[in-house]
Amino acid sequence: MRKVIKLKLTFLLLCLPFFANAQWFKHSFKVMGTMSHVEFWLAEPAKTLDGSDSKFAISNSEQAQALIESVEQEMFRIDQQMSPYKEQSELSLINREAANKVVTISAELFELLKTAQHIAAMSDGAFDITYASIGYQYNYREKIRPSQSSITKALPAINYTAITLNKEQSTVHFTHQGIKIDLGGIAKGYAVKRCLSLLKKAGVNHALVSAGGDTGLLGDRHGRPWLVGIKHPRAEHKTAVNIPLENEAISTSGDYERYFIEDGIRYHHIINPKTGDSVRKVVSVSVIGKDPTYVDALSTTVFVKGLAEGMALINKLPEFEAIIIDNQRRLHYSKGLQQ
Ligand code: ADP
Ligand code: MG
Repeated sequence: MRKVIKLKLTFLLLCLPFFANAQWFKHSFKVMGTMSHVEFWLAEPAKTLDGSDSKFAISNSEQAQALIESVEQEMFRIDQQMSPYKEQSELSLINREAANKVVTISAELFELLKTAQHIAAMSDGAFDITYASIGYQYNYREKIRPSQSSITKALPAINYTAITLNKEQSTVHFTHQGIKIDLGGIAKGYAVKRCLSLLKKAGVNHALVSAGGDTGLLGDRHGRPWLVGIKHPRAEHKTAVNIPLENEAISTSGDYERYFIEDGIRYHHIINPKTGDSVRKVVSVSVIGKDPTYVDALSTTVFVKGLAEGMALINKLPEFEAIIIDNQRRLHYSKGLQQ
């Protein structure tokens, strides 16, 4: 008996200095049709001998709460600006007007469109925000999908090269009628990136911010890496694999987030821009790298490209790694992860 207590005590004493010197803050909320989460901890150096507190960038929990609030606000702000479901959003304005005239847009949206166009070019159009020209004809909740003839008719409007961006004027123009754009494959990563930089500016060095399948990390989780789970693609509450990460971002694209099954065929939210149909080559793609915006768009890109081509693309980009789950639920790792 004594031995057990002694063991427990030793364990407690070992743990105490580890956890006592940190303050933790967490908050989850719904935005952009998904769950978001912010979590950070502040290293708390031991009190000085005379009992006074040491200096922090954030000195009390009210400031920490205010910071969490500003993270939440930032996500909502980006949603207001980029949601296709909000009539007042800047994105909706572009979709209404850019095929008819040159539209002046904010510097922020302009930069994100430029990034999307860059990824479209480097992926040979596998990532293409004009996928929405057909994408908007799907409604996964209502199990609605476009007929083959609607797809054939709208397919020429999936063409990222028909988006003209002018940096000096900060304008966008579509040179083809019927074009619609959507930022669902990149906006959450961008939102995570903005929130991380907000935290960093406030003096936080250890944080996790996630929006759906997009996660960005600052520093470590109190001396150890953060553990980010990749969802099991066919068992809702299970994790396929846990990845230890520090100072990285990871994004997962899967065919299980928004989908319906008809006649044994899965119709889901990642669309092949060449066919207007859902992509059925792999079931889950995670991309790891420093830039949350890029890993978000690249996870969608690799999903569209499939195992061989997708992995070849990632293996050519030294700053990114990938984990792919194929149709047979086998895991595949990019070169940099194969130790
Ligand atoms: P989510 O985190 O929303 O599940 P993903 O990163 O997996 O998003 O990307 C899927 C989203 O990307 C879709 O919901 C859609 O908005 C958008 N999308 C689908 N196909 C493409 C494509 N070929 N190119 C760019 N964006 C796409
Ligand atoms: Mg993505």
